[in-house]
Amino acid sequence: MSLIELMTCSVFLLKSAAASSTAFVASFICERRSKSLALLSFCSAIEVLTSISFDLTLLAKPTTLSNSFWAETLPLAKRLDWRDNGRMVITILGSGTSHGVPVIACNCAVCSSSDPRDKRYRASALIENEFEGKTWRVLIDVGPDFRSQALACGLPSLDAILLTHGHADHLHGLDDIRIFSHTKVPNAVSKYTDKDGVEHPTNEFTKAMPIYADKAATKIIRAHFDYIFHRTQIGGGKPLVTLNAAEKLVPSAPLKIGGMEIISIPMKHGKIPTTGYLISAVAKDGTKKSAAYLTDCNYISEKSIKLINDNAGLLVHAVIDGLRKDVHTTHFSFEEALATANLIQPRHTWTTHMTHDFGYQEIAEYFKEILPEYPRLEKIVANGGSVLPAHDGLRLEA
Ligand SMILES: [Zn+2]
Ligand SMILES: [Zn+2]
Ligand SMILES: [Zn+2]
Repeated sequence: MSLIELMTCSVFLLKSAAASSTAFVASFICERRSKSLALLSFCSAIEVLTSISFDLTLLAKPTTLSNSFWAETLPLAKRLDWRDNGRMVITILGSGTSHGVPVIACNCAVCSSSDPRDKRYRASALIENEFEGKTWRVLIDVGPDFRSQALACGLPSLDAILLTHGHADHLHGLDDIRIFSHTKVPNAVSKYTDKDGVEHPTNEFTKAMPIYADKAATKIIRAHFDYIFHRTQIGGGKPLVTLNAAEKLVPSAPLKIGGMEIISIPMKHGKIPTTGYLISAVAKDGTKKSAAYLTDCNYISEKSIKLINDNAGLLVHAVIDGLRKDVHTTHFSFEEALATANLIQPRHTWTTHMTHDFGYQEIAEYFKEILPEYPRLEKIVANGGSVLPAHDGLRLEA
């Protein structure tokens, strides 16, 4: 389906929303496609084409959307010709807390919701940028849902991984990156020695995946994925990675990859350190545009806030930890997330790592209600910005 067709479908969907005739809408799109696909075409096209801000009340309340939202929808979103506009794109691969939503064995209203935006994989994001004829892809966190997320968005390649911290919900999909980090070369006899002096036979691997992680997370990777760093028998597969210090990604020495510059933002996640990332790219018009990804944190120092404010250029998006309404010992609540956004003033604020306590619509309405408490954000929203929960499959252009 071409972009124009998609736009046409989306406009049609918009008009059809009032009629609540989802079956009719779906059949308009294509008899092969499901109702959930119809909703995504609407969401994706509107988001991509209007830089995100749209009125939620225009959405028909989905009633019979299937649970396989991702599997059916993202391949379509992928076909949008968004790369032609020369912007960096961030896709939210997961917006859920450590359990994911639905939570296993839970029958609460959110876990049984038919709104696809209430299906939350474990928190992760993919950043893509066109540079020198190649689409560069950087993954933030590689949680237990990575395989499903990669299949859902049709991930074709990966160039680097940025790790926020070493908790299982952000790391335990690491083994599955081996599809991008090793190539079997029969009869090769040489060995590969990584920078820590660990030897790997190159007949198993030829390409290492650079991972950026702070000291604490690096220690956890080595402990939880010990087998990766030891020589094993020939045959079978394991990922080949290089571990790089996220702390070293400072403004004077950012990670330069695929036309992007990335610096780390030190934060606290209860007692443990966690790393946020500020990703910047220079747009075709010469403007430096950035996105901040700040999850699994309940404290960001003034110094780190300044680091963002001094280096972002135009901060188009901030994806911030927003667990739930109640205060938590290691995560920002919704209000704390908005208070943080109020300090860094992104054009679009998104919360992530959300629990099953609240559904998408409920959170969006809550943000509208409390917005006047954050005057800077209120002003940004009045000028076309937005403050909304993220959802899986959301594509953000910076
Ligand atoms: Zn987490
Ligand atoms: Zn639940
Ligand atoms: Zn965590």
